[in-house]
Amino acid sequence: MFDLLFRQALVIDGTGTPGFVADVAMADGRFAAVAPRLEARAAQIVPALGLALAPGFIDLHCHSDAYHLEEPAGEIKIRQGVTLEVVGNCGASLAPLAPLRKQMGVDYCLGGPDRFRGAPDWQTYGQYAAKVEGSRPVVNVAGLVGHGTLRVAAMGFANRPATPTELDTMAGLLGDALDAGAVGMSTGLYYAPGLFATTDEVIALGRVVGRRGGYYASHIRNEAEGLLDALDEALAVGRGSGVPVHISHLKAAGTRNWAKADAAVAKIEAARRDGMDVTCDVYPYHFSSTSLKAVIPPWALEGGTDGLVARLANPAERAKIVRDIREGLPGWENIYHNAGWEKIVISALDSPERQHLQGQSVARAALAGGADPFEWVMDLLLLERGAVNIIAGSMHEENVARFLTLPFAMIGSDGAPRGGRPHPRVYGTFPRVIRRFVRELRSLSLEDAVRKMTAASADRLGLADRGRIQVGRQADAVLFDPDTFSDTATFEDPCRYPVGLAAVTVGGRLVVHGDRMTGERAGRFCRRGGR
Ligand SMILES: [Zn+2]
Repeated sequence: MFDLLFRQALVIDGTGTPGFVADVAMADGRFAAVAPRLEARAAQIVPALGLALAPGFIDLHCHSDAYHLEEPAGEIKIRQGVTLEVVGNCGASLAPLAPLRKQMGVDYCLGGPDRFRGAPDWQTYGQYAAKVEGSRPVVNVAGLVGHGTLRVAAMGFANRPATPTELDTMAGLLGDALDAGAVGMSTGLYYAPGLFATTDEVIALGRVVGRRGGYYASHIRNEAEGLLDALDEALAVGRGSGVPVHISHLKAAGTRNWAKADAAVAKIEAARRDGMDVTCDVYPYHFSSTSLKAVIPPWALEGGTDGLVARLANPAERAKIVRDIREGLPGWENIYHNAGWEKIVISALDSPERQHLQGQSVARAALAGGADPFEWVMDLLLLERGAVNIIAGSMHEENVARFLTLPFAMIGSDGAPRGGRPHPRVYGTFPRVIRRFVRELRSLSLEDAVRKMTAASADRLGLADRGRIQVGRQADAVLFDPDTFSDTATFEDPCRYPVGLAAVTVGGRLVVHGDRMTGERAGRFCRRGGR
């Protein structure tokens, strides 16, 4: 007797092999049988003729670090068919926290002060993982340790290389976190405080990760003019430490850099030919989303929020910030140069009295206020204490398709569920890959798209138990209509659930059935090595 039986589904098993029609049974949380026709009885039968059954999708790159604590029943991911989210990306995780810099660590991870509802009552990575699991999230969660979070814990927002003692502190915290089940380490070398680190610092920490079998994910130092140098740095970390390297949200940002896509791919392919384990993730949109603080030159970010606010309030320093944004600084990726104020749109901010700015470009909002856009941005960052999110149009869709189709590319949304008018990737990434890049552009086969969302990602994570429809593995699965499964979230109306989803299981339990949540919350914290 099975718990659950899907009848006559088109099985896309995650490995990339062609789909086949079969019955798929689940029992005790695992796939129990896959066969052309199963005669055994089941507690519940789901007719699946004409529908595709795939392993539950894995969002390899997201920023839901607080979401599972605050809204464990949240539907944003599960309604895309996602059953496992990887948090702690771009250098920012919610653990470990140093006792004296707890709030600073949380504020850094969430991109602004007072964004976490409640008091952070954890400190170690193990405590954070237990807290996520204790909240009974609707999806599974795995996590990277953020290098920026380690740096905040060891040395705050100091603009200098780490001392040997500080590096020891970071390595110790990192080792403990990996032992507690983190799948690897991420850097955000484009953001403070990660950008204050030397390559050698990252190599030293990479060794700690490599020794324990984790991987190194990097939001590289520069995705625009300095793209190729930044890729070299990421690869140097792999070479210097022996850790597998994963490039986060591979892109070529800024019109002038679109032509660098081929050279970027060639670099990664050459490293792979040399035997390095290098992979990447991509999100299926040609506009990005980040903090408005990304327009601020690095020197002005020393000291974190307090440091930035003090400089914005000082006329001489503020004038220097504006000059550096206008003119740029060598080696620094300047998001204003990538996009321009017309293509930088305010997506989320915290003050109730300024909510109307969400959805407006900086150029338009500044014009409406009769202000110079540079000065307007400085004022807004000062008023909101740096906590402003933006969407920036900076990529070309042909490059996105090129990167998505690379055999070593996987899917990660990079989404941060945080209110406002977020990037539509938060609600739409996974069905969008299938609508836009499988059905409309025919860049990928359905089987290959699914592989990039399942088996390939599980292999990257070292979670051997997941990512494939195979007897004995965890029964996380998604059932959808391959002809209609689509994102509906748009730039103008981003908080909309997809259509064409028929069912989702987590650990063999139906969590979504038709267009209704069943109330099951079976998510676990998935630890490296499967503990
Ligand atoms: Zn990032």
